Amino acid sequence: MRLQPVSGLPEIRPGDDLASLVAERIDLDSGVLCLASTVVSKAEGRTADLGEFPAGPRAREIAAGLEELTGEEKDPRFAQAVLEESTELLIEAPFLLTETRFGHVCVNAGIDRSNTGGDDLLLLPKHPSESAARLSEALSVPVIVTDTCGRPFRHGQRGVAIGWAGMPASRDWRGERDRDGRELGVTVENVIDELAAAANLVAGEGDGGVPAVVVEGFEFGRMGGSNEHFRAVEDDYVRQALRGWSRE
Ligand code: GDP
Ligand code: MN
Ligand code: MN
Repeated sequence: MRLQPVSGLPEIRPGDDLASLVAERIDLDSGVLCLASTVVSKAEGRTADLGEFPAGPRAREIAAGLEELTGEEKDPRFAQAVLEESTELLIEAPFLLTETRFGHVCVNAGIDRSNTGGDDLLLLPKHPSESAARLSEALSVPVIVTDTCGRPFRHGQRGVAIGWAGMPASRDWRGERDRDGRELGVTVENVIDELAAAANLVAGEGDGGVPAVVVEGFEFGRMGGSNEHFRAVEDDYVRQALRGWSRE
């Protein structure tokens, strides 16, 4: 497997044709294209100013709570933006953990305040898998839209897939055999997150200017695929526990 950065992309602006900008810079007859959500959002005009989010009572309450707990100044308009991008608030202190409208659970609804192109905020693409599908159709390769995300239990952030098209989300190992001949019963390997993490290593987080990375030579092999990615609450026991805990 090889990871190939797409270099020389400009600052992305609303309305830019990302597929053409990438295709002009790299031969893309195979491979998986991983794109940082940042540039997908910019192309889709998902930048915003805080002034667009006048804070309601709930956002003011959340911001006041955060201020009290962290001792840092918190803009209630930011809390309002997070609420508007989310369907459920899972944790409200000492940070906001929410489920976005497309099912991804992350801090601050994935709203970025870095690499925004000068605006206050950069919201995640509205429907990252639909964005991926348009790009995948235009380029005839699978596309993964990535974001950098924290995770529970471990320090640090890493790349994850928030949208994908043109390939299954996972490689289903069930029915395969281990080295002792035992049949695998549960392993469904989430490949899009793994590829997103690999691509994110090449993209970096700062001013490197590499939002697009092509993964060459990844093969699904003979294994079946599964398209499940975001867990539904019914089969997400950690989230159910979190709900119980935050109500106490
Ligand atoms: P995120 O992980 O999707 O939130 O995106 P990051 O802000 O971490 O940026 C990922 C990579 O894309 C970094 O190398 C940035 O420098 C780069 N990047 C972000 N925006 C742009 C852009 O508009 N043009 C180019 N060429 N690179 C960008
Ligand atoms: Mn981001
Ligand atoms: Mn990043």
